[in-house]
Amino acid sequence: MSDVNKNTPAPNATVSNTAAPKSHGRLSISASVTPRALMTDRPRLAGVWTAKIITLFPAAFPGVLGESLTGKALKDGLWALETIDLRIFGQGKHRNVDDTPAGGGAGMVLRPDVLGRAIDMAQSGVPENRDEWPILYMSPRGKPLDQAMAQRFSKARGMTVLCGRFEGVDERVLEHYDIEEVSLGDFVLTGGEIAAQAMLDATVRLLPDVLGNADSIEDESFSNGLLEHPQYTRPADWRGHVIPDVLMSGHHGKIADWRRAQSEEITQTRRPDLWAAHLARIASED
Ligand code: SAH
Repeated sequence: MSDVNKNTPAPNATVSNTAAPKSHGRLSISASVTPRALMTDRPRLAGVWTAKIITLFPAAFPGVLGESLTGKALKDGLWALETIDLRIFGQGKHRNVDDTPAGGGAGMVLRPDVLGRAIDMAQSGVPENRDEWPILYMSPRGKPLDQAMAQRFSKARGMTVLCGRFEGVDERVLEHYDIEEVSLGDFVLTGGEIAAQAMLDATVRLLPDVLGNADSIEDESFSNGLLEHPQYTRPADWRGHVIPDVLMSGHHGKIADWRRAQSEEITQTRRPDLWAAHLARIASED
């Protein structure tokens, strides 16, 4: 049977907006069909890129996203995070969210009626156009997450993310809402929360002003279809291992050439798939 969450928060804690609103500008109360009791009384930041996470474990958020640059950006209101506790939408006294798989077999499946109520609430007041506001389900069957997807998501106005548990979700929900399935990789996690945080991290760091240094985004792995060159820092001699001479030469042209050559060599040996795609792109540009 389902694991009834003993720490189920009070209903008025269901939707938590983790971004600290600024005391000026951009604040607005958004219209909502949601019962008051399910909403926090904190106003939403109008127009800020927002992630709405449907999960049985809202306490897992913001998790690691609350640290470092993504955490600072969250506090500064450069993006916002809302968790929607799936348990609240469960059936009956025990707020059951899952049931046995039709056709038999091991495990439990998240019920479509329960998920539907949570998704309807998440979608109230957000754009219906999926390009502007994708609805995503973290799933090992999904398209593997890559930098191009993170770039696409960062250009949307926000996203709704469904984190699965047990054997996953009833298929009809995915069809009904035209949900995009995204995988973190070819392995099976126990739930979608870690995958969602990885996807959010990759996306949020591409939002304007989050990293503070746009150059580092342009240079890094995948941005130009290649893996990054090796990095070094002081001390120049560490346990007898020295930094390549060229990097200490101060000759910017030679340094750029060396980095480019390293980047190509590493991509070619480690990721023949990326290298082939890179060569094809060059050929099509000529
Ligand atoms: N029975 C499913 C696996 C369920 S794992 C199958 O064989 O495909 C439970 C939940 O963890 C999933 O619903 C999904 O939300 C999440 N999950 C597991 N592996 C994942 C991965 N590689 N990427 C993204 N989410 C994953």
